[in-house]
Amino acid sequence: MSERLAAYAQQLFNLTLSEAQQAQFARYAAELETWNKSRANLTAITGAEAIEVRHFLDSLSLLSALDIPHGARLVDVGTGGGFPGVPLKIVRSDLRLALLEATGKKIAFLQHLANVLQLSDIQFLNARAEEAGHMPEQRESYDVVVARAVALMPILMEYLLPLARVGGVCVAMKGESAQRETNEAANALRILGGKVSRIVPIQLPKVAETHHLVIVEKVAPTPPAYPRKPGIPAKKPL
Ligand code: SAM
Repeated sequence: MSERLAAYAQQLFNLTLSEAQQAQFARYAAELETWNKSRANLTAITGAEAIEVRHFLDSLSLLSALDIPHGARLVDVGTGGGFPGVPLKIVRSDLRLALLEATGKKIAFLQHLANVLQLSDIQFLNARAEEAGHMPEQRESYDVVVARAVALMPILMEYLLPLARVGGVCVAMKGESAQRETNEAANALRILGGKVSRIVPIQLPKVAETHHLVIVEKVAPTPPAYPRKPGIPAKKPL
């Protein structure tokens, strides 16, 4: 199965996966299926090819759109079963990765996963984004802040932008609604110090819908009042 993934990664994103990385992805898929059945509701996507394309390749698409500097600090907000953060770390072991996730069971899976995949230099944060955004060692400290399938853009920007340093970037992985959601986030972006730099379309093999990476630059500090208390960004989007 990992040979198909390696072929797609090469062909679509010009990424060469080593034998060791292919083995890590194969183990990742196996762990995901095992934990999904018995312990944590990690993903609705099952089957080898679907996991490879919709989880692994989709996560890696970010590397084709963004030049991430060596040793960059990257946080994946609402990472769930580790997407996109863990596939990025498998391919880019130099990244200083933080996995932020509100559900403890998912954090337990991610810790187990990092252990069996022998991934090091990962910080596990069992917290809500609204809390992490006020932690002194987290706030405005990341070069890259990413999220997939977590919230609509106006809400998501309040989760992501407080974590990015000025000069850093946020990437929202979106589907067909990317442009509309981004338009609706104009107010949030202005308040929180973000500016949309580009929206990059991504076409995955055998996937009908086009995915989009919304790339937002952090151009000004986020005012101290944001993010608001847990639950408020979703209840009263900016
Ligand atoms: N990013 C993963 C993916 O694309 O497969 C998981 C997506 S899942 C639909 C959304 C995840 O975000 C859940 O695991 C949920 O617990 C987490 N989440 C939602 N809101 C959050 C918040 N405010 N802070 C931290 N995690 C949050």
